[in-house]
Amino acid sequence: MQITAYGSAGEVTGSNSYIQTDDGTGFLIDFGLFQGSPAIEAANYAPIEFDPSKLAFVILTHAHIDHSGRLPMLVKGGFRGPIYLSYPTRDLLEALLIDSAEIQLEESDPLYTEEDVWKTLALTYPVAFNDPINHGDIAISFHQSGHLLGSAFVKLRLEEKTITFSGDVGRYRNNFYPDPAPIGPTDIVVSESTYGNSFHRKKIDAYHELLETVIEKFRQGQTIIIPAFSVGRTTEILHGLRQLAEQTGRLNELDQIPTYLDSPLGLKALEIYRERQDYLSASFDEKYLSGPNVHLLQDPGESYSLDKKTHPKLIISSGGMAQGGHITHHLEAFLPHETTTVIFVGFQAEETVGRAILEGLPVIIGERPVEVQAEIIPISGFSGHGDRDDLSEWIATGSPQRILLGHGEPEVLIDWQAYLASQGYQVDILTRSEAITL
Ligand SMILES: [Zn+2]
Repeated sequence: MQITAYGSAGEVTGSNSYIQTDDGTGFLIDFGLFQGSPAIEAANYAPIEFDPSKLAFVILTHAHIDHSGRLPMLVKGGFRGPIYLSYPTRDLLEALLIDSAEIQLEESDPLYTEEDVWKTLALTYPVAFNDPINHGDIAISFHQSGHLLGSAFVKLRLEEKTITFSGDVGRYRNNFYPDPAPIGPTDIVVSESTYGNSFHRKKIDAYHELLETVIEKFRQGQTIIIPAFSVGRTTEILHGLRQLAEQTGRLNELDQIPTYLDSPLGLKALEIYRERQDYLSASFDEKYLSGPNVHLLQDPGESYSLDKKTHPKLIISSGGMAQGGHITHHLEAFLPHETTTVIFVGFQAEETVGRAILEGLPVIIGERPVEVQAEIIPISGFSGHGDRDDLSEWIATGSPQRILLGHGEPEVLIDWQAYLASQGYQVDILTRSEAITL
């Protein structure tokens, strides 16, 4: 068989691995949007490198849009086979793709419509974790990867080989998502590499800093704004703050802070997390998703009226890099005031509004310059991706004879390859559009 990465090779978005078996069957693992600068996103508009109508099936590792966001384009291209995925991924996918189609509508050249999304969702075929299914001669199983609700790594058995695709791998001992499951026997691992050359601080330390900062700034009379990625992150931040506050005897202090969750997609995701909590870690408790002073904003009018209120409060709003979503009007309203604190809990890519705020560059929101008098505080350590230690720990549970690396920046891939080679593995880096024979 041959594997070709048509995306997420030497980069971190656009996940897309095409496999062609010796008998000519073609299938795909993930088909995500390229995200980032306009040059990177141009790849979304390039012709698809294979004929979607000839694909036997598609496997989706998890719902994040850089893994799932181009699936409707396959259906537009004639794909009619099943899309295998986990149950929570199916639920999150619906929310994410509908949202993506709505964003597309604002583009001059939409990639797909809501109708294409519904045709795509009709092809989904949810499967349980650790329970192999067969598609022809190919056995497929999904296993907990601990990165997002329902996120999976996938094991395939075909042509007398076992191949494991990592999807995105989460962090061990993180208190919210379960640990990645052990790989078990495998010949080949195709692994993500996002943080293959770096180390995260402990997530619990990040939460201690966040809780302390939020309580202190509220005491000083500040409006605190946390831009957060809608799916997963808004739920996780609320849960993590309230859980730690209870454990450290500070829940009374946190309960004094009017807290607003302002993200329509984030609230949909929160409900799915509640419904599918069996897929979360044992320390998840839905009681931390609500509180006497926690307000889930359902109505866009409430979101805008918040901007006129001067009382100290906490706003957790999407999107994470302040490029779009409700966060933009909150920032426009509150950034010019010294009574505002903005806390960044996620990575801010180059050329985003979030990055400009973080670096003290001129801030333009909706073509309007915005003065920044607010205090800006980045807090690191919340990443949903494993670092080098996590990825190494996970790979060691499989003892593969060969490792293929994708989903990483070029310099990270080289470092990570060298490290794994020093551990005795045979390691190759995937190059976009170059087939590798397995
Ligand atoms: Zn992901």
